[in-house]
Amino acid sequence: MAAGSGVPARYDLPEIDAFTRPYWDAAADGRLLLRRCGACGRAHHYPREFCPHCWSEAVTWERASGRATLYTWSVVHRNDLPPFGARTPYVAAVVDLEEGPRMMTEVVECGEGDLRVEMALEVAFRAEGEGEGEGRVEEGVAVPVFRPRFSS
Ligand SMILES: [Zn+2]
Repeated sequence: MAAGSGVPARYDLPEIDAFTRPYWDAAADGRLLLRRCGACGRAHHYPREFCPHCWSEAVTWERASGRATLYTWSVVHRNDLPPFGARTPYVAAVVDLEEGPRMMTEVVECGEGDLRVEMALEVAFRAEGEGEGEGRVEEGVAVPVFRPRFSS
């Protein structure tokens, strides 16, 4: 994505290529995908073309349950990269997906004081990019975030 058109850059949106297209298509559909290795059986995230545990290329897409627990977080009060500045404060978090991989994300719909280590979370998808950036941004990108899970 070339910059320099005078449109402010955004740092929250993915660059989508042929490899990650299935991931973002599924996200737009409300499904979180993982990559699972056929050689060692472990799942990983973010998506890579080979297994980061054993380097096998026998890796396929798999739908994640969307369940996770909160590993750690940080409340961000200042971020100069657009559009985060307009969004502060927000909760930058690392979560452990039920399938094993650890994922950097954002926790939403939860007060700062209600955050707990290992609290149950579920994936939600935030629509981004519609009509912004004069067409430079992918239309209808959905970014996975996590919110408190109250049911099992
Ligand atoms: Zn592997």
